[in-house]
Amino acid sequence: MARYTDAVCRLCRRAGEKLFLKGERCYTPKCGIEKRRKPPGSQPARRRRTSDWGTQLREKQKARQIYGVLERQFLKYYSEALRRPGITGSYLMQILEERLDNVAYRLNFAESRSQARQLVTHGHIKVNGKKVDIPSYRVKINDVVTWKESSKKLDMYSRMSQDIPRRPLPNWLALNAGNMEGTIISSPDMNEIDTGIDARLVVEFYSR
Ligand code: SF4
Repeated sequence: MARYTDAVCRLCRRAGEKLFLKGERCYTPKCGIEKRRKPPGSQPARRRRTSDWGTQLREKQKARQIYGVLERQFLKYYSEALRRPGITGSYLMQILEERLDNVAYRLNFAESRSQARQLVTHGHIKVNGKKVDIPSYRVKINDVVTWKESSKKLDMYSRMSQDIPRRPLPNWLALNAGNMEGTIISSPDMNEIDTGIDARLVVEFYSR
């Protein structure tokens, strides 16, 4: 499946804010947006008023880029959220949070979601004792997410297990830092999602 392979810092510069796509680097002065805040491209940016549609589009793109989801899949998530009774935006965010690559990131198994995605696709992650190499796999309450035993020899495992805790763990996850075993204890809570995405704008974009 086609994926965005260009320099990801360009996406932050285009969005005009940090999307935290690179892990550690995002917190250092080497961060692309710290060094150059203007949007990418050789032409100087023209000052233009962004329309409502433009703002909604930008928010939707931001959400896709943060979670590393392609348009088709994102639209599927939106359709699923729409079918549920209640607040569509909250369900959409919940679906995105339940993805296995995001859970591995939230559990501090990796420095960024893209690194977590790679861990999953390379078969290093198990759910309830079985290898799952599908980043979009959706976890459920009581699922246990661990590293494959042989993958614990990786440098990355030593690094990530020693540095725990890095990012604060959301309350819907529990982590046994000794053996890097995570458990899903409840559904993701909208109030704990720190991505800065305005889900309402995303829903407005698709409901036009
Ligand atoms: Fe964005 Fe991280 Fe690059 Fe900074 S270092 S521009 S936050 S991806």
